[in-house]
Amino acid sequence: MKQVAEGVLFIPGRDDLIPDSHTYIIGDPLSGDLSMIDPGLMGKGRYKLESVKKLVDTSRIKRVIMTHTHLDHIGCLSEILEQLPWAELWVHRIEGEALEQGDERTVYGMEMFKNMCQAQYGIKSGAFRFNVDRKLEEGERLKIGAMEWDVMHIPGHSSGSIALYKSDSGILIPGDVVYADYAIGRFDLYGADGDALKGSLKRLAGLDVKILLPGHNEIAHDLPPGYISETLRQWEPYL
Ligand SMILES: [Zn+2]
Ligand SMILES: [Zn+2]
Repeated sequence: MKQVAEGVLFIPGRDDLIPDSHTYIIGDPLSGDLSMIDPGLMGKGRYKLESVKKLVDTSRIKRVIMTHTHLDHIGCLSEILEQLPWAELWVHRIEGEALEQGDERTVYGMEMFKNMCQAQYGIKSGAFRFNVDRKLEEGERLKIGAMEWDVMHIPGHSSGSIALYKSDSGILIPGDVVYADYAIGRFDLYGADGDALKGSLKRLAGLDVKILLPGHNEIAHDLPPGYISETLRQWEPYL
């Protein structure tokens, strides 16, 4: 784990048979009010928390915020909440309501994948029913951990995907919507929508982004100007 920007720690995902999402910890450590973004895949909770402990006290993690609720991001949420029982769960309203209803279609994305994962990892149906403490909406500004992050609803990869954007330092945490290697999130799973993804990428392309912290693969510290527009231009014919 390392600090990738002021108030942002990065714990790289450790891919298994299935990818494990990167995890970020945001918030000024002195504030005692930290947020964990995207826990990761099943079985990775211990690795993620042990990594965090090397730099900060995990008792300061007050909440888990999901960029979206695919299995590779939410798989170890229950492991994390077991260790941090005080932590709240914040999710965009659309996927938050699904979690509360025990609707796991977004978590698995497709029936075939659900069957494979349940067999492989011994997961029972209903394992991803959670109470959601706060349902996030487009346009909210979160004042947390002595920082301010804008919530952007960016559907397309999933219906309730969000990005967190810190405008004063150009930091974007876009989940799986756009990556740092000219790739974008897949748009063939349950709740995905290529047209919506195009609209979301257009919105992100209008931001001033210097540091791009996606859910997988590379992270970028010095993003070239126009990077997201260029990525969108290359993908637009397929969306
Ligand atoms: Zn992912
Ligand atoms: Zn995803």
